Amino acid sequence: MNAPENFLADLPAFDNSFAALPEDFYTRLPPQPLPDPYVVGVSDEVLDLLGLPADLPKHPQFADLFAGNRLLPGSEPLAAVYSGHQFGVWAGQLGDGRAHLLGGLRNGRGHWEIQLKGAGRTPYSRGADGRAVLRSSIREFLCSEAMAGLGVPTTRALCVIGSDHPVRREEIETAAVVTRVAPGFVRFGSFEHWASRDRDAEVRRLADYVIDTFRPECRDAANPYDALLRDVARRTGELIAHWMAVGFMHGVMNTDNMSILGLTLDYGPFGFMEAFDAGHICNHSDTYGRYSYRNQPHVAQWNLYCLADAFLPLLKRPEIARAAVDETYGEAFETTFERLMRAKLGLREGLPDDEQFIGETFGFLQQHRPDFTLFFRMLSKLPAAVHGPERAKTDAPLRDQFVDRAACDAWLDNWRARLAQTPWEDESRQTAMLNANPKYVLRNWLAEQAIRQAKAGDFSEVARLLACLRRPYDEQPEYEDYATLPPDWASGLEVSCSS
Ligand code: AMP
Ligand code: MG
Repeated sequence: MNAPENFLADLPAFDNSFAALPEDFYTRLPPQPLPDPYVVGVSDEVLDLLGLPADLPKHPQFADLFAGNRLLPGSEPLAAVYSGHQFGVWAGQLGDGRAHLLGGLRNGRGHWEIQLKGAGRTPYSRGADGRAVLRSSIREFLCSEAMAGLGVPTTRALCVIGSDHPVRREEIETAAVVTRVAPGFVRFGSFEHWASRDRDAEVRRLADYVIDTFRPECRDAANPYDALLRDVARRTGELIAHWMAVGFMHGVMNTDNMSILGLTLDYGPFGFMEAFDAGHICNHSDTYGRYSYRNQPHVAQWNLYCLADAFLPLLKRPEIARAAVDETYGEAFETTFERLMRAKLGLREGLPDDEQFIGETFGFLQQHRPDFTLFFRMLSKLPAAVHGPERAKTDAPLRDQFVDRAACDAWLDNWRARLAQTPWEDESRQTAMLNANPKYVLRNWLAEQAIRQAKAGDFSEVARLLACLRRPYDEQPEYEDYATLPPDWASGLEVSCSS
């Protein structure tokens, strides 16, 4: 087989645009080697995105490359500095404590930065070990790709490389490295870092970098920095609307985990809503529920105000910075959320009362707590009109999700009445609804199953789950077991910040 360098010779040249920023923005340093690495999982889609050959993962040195043991030709590894607010409190300097940016490249499909997460200590590790465990790396890998499959903006993951190298958490686990891929990894906290130090020139330099590299259209605006802040606020609004519509909970929406490009970033104790509860807290470490499902839209806005404060050196007046958020975020969130909810409910066109109906629907879900994903998937298959005695039979799959079947019937009556106001032939509507309501999401217990097998040396479940989550809106009878309520053993599962 060819040396990996020969495969990699076909890669577009790295441009390493982030490394072209002044040295204050990062520390250059190589990843720390990981002994005897092995491949745990690979995303064929991300290989393709990068223009890498499909059989590269079979190369004996693939694991070495993405464990950080050998450098990709052209890479200039570095760890970036940032700061941030964690759980609502200013946390001061943070930074890539366990992430190495290898570099960036541009190809026909965009600009891609490649980052190793878990490849050892950096000057920003703050006493921690710079490693990530297999458990959290598999979760990040699978969820990044699952979110992409769902159509939610996200960083991607190329692969997980494991090693038997021990890592101490609550117990001894083993190390792994996830290769993350995204147009960029700049965070709200990257701006807060410089603003908190009154380093106005650096705030400007970073904003210029983001505009020039990712948002050149902002240059045409009367005030490019105002345009950039509005762009971030709009994309963040759209992002959170997508999260809410698929029942995703991030778990740690600190400002250092918020992407300036509006991507889902830093997968840790995330979760997908199962039995619906708007107050659900997916992160066991989040004692007061700051990042509960229902708080996500509000918290994102709070985070945007932190970013707006960091933009003050550029926008001068607080009211201008705040207005950039106020005039953009809420509107983007609401418009997107309503559009996604209409699609989920099969409403062909919008009507003025839809907001109220959507609100009532959430109230109904809150009261009766059906599985969020199964509810909308089953709803997608129901006919718009039902006749007397047949009704119980037609609606049975959905009704059976409820203890109080009469309440389900009453809500279905309202739904059907609403459907009748904007008639849509059943088959087309059902197809549209099935494309808006996933059958498969990365439930905690599914990830846990794959993790348990991987810990025992069998990575086939990681691959199987990934293959299914690629096409979450398709019926895939071979994966029927993934579209069920959590089994009893999963009731005690908890995820925390430990990763
Ligand atoms: P997180 O809550 O995972 O987003 O992490 C917050 C900060 O802690 C970031 O600056 C991380 O890079 C850093 N961090 C988390 N875990 C580790 C670790 N095991 N080693 C070094 N830094 C870490
Ligand atoms: Mg983070």
